[in-house]
Amino acid sequence: MESQDTVEALRGLQDIDAAIEEREAELATLEPALQEVEERLAEVRKRLDAVRQELETAEESYRKSQRSVQAGRATLKRLRDRADEVQDLRQHMAVRAELEAARRNLEAAENDALDDLQQVESAREVLGTLDGEMSEARDSLRERSDEVETRRAELETELADHRDRRKDRSEGIDHEALKLYERVRRGRTESALAPLVGGHCGNCFTAVPLQRQAEIRSGRTLFRCEGCGVILHAPLEETADEMDR
Ligand SMILES: [Zn+2]
Repeated sequence: MESQDTVEALRGLQDIDAAIEEREAELATLEPALQEVEERLAEVRKRLDAVRQELETAEESYRKSQRSVQAGRATLKRLRDRADEVQDLRQHMAVRAELEAARRNLEAAENDALDDLQQVESAREVLGTLDGEMSEARDSLRERSDEVETRRAELETELADHRDRRKDRSEGIDHEALKLYERVRRGRTESALAPLVGGHCGNCFTAVPLQRQAEIRSGRTLFRCEGCGVILHAPLEETADEMDR
């Protein structure tokens, strides 16, 4: 294989590698995206549990204060009945004092019950809102996970295709050239190949000695740029149209 053909083949391989990398990078972003939605769901669930707990406590407290109100009413009724029965003034005064205290107790119990009822109602209201948020978050998670699964399947199919193409393509490339390309390519996001541009490396613009330029143009051997390490090849005027397509 002529070196120029080898360069063409390596450039083709590099396109496939870029397509593979792009898809691998996208695949790597899918998992965190899903995780984000799951975290939001867990957050809402936590708040929901806390408000449920609050509601339970408020309901318990309301039941207690209702019992106090009932007890207070019973006491009041008992004291009123007794007040009707007492004969002398001293007993009458004593019952009146007790009645007064019982009235104040009942009033306090009624106020507590009212406060507790308000707590119960506001907890129920918050719970209703959170239930709504929860079902929205669930819908959104389901939707997002469907999207992610669909995209993951697409990417995996495409990756398998590209990897097959890569295998076919690399079988036709000179072994040493392929090894060199892979060494240069490793750990690199930019191009592993660059054309000579006016006697300079087309990637980092380091000047290439004249003798080396001639060797590169002759296309017998592949040389790496002394500046950035890319594989240098003859200028691509003849394939410029192809590159624009
Ligand atoms: Zn260079």
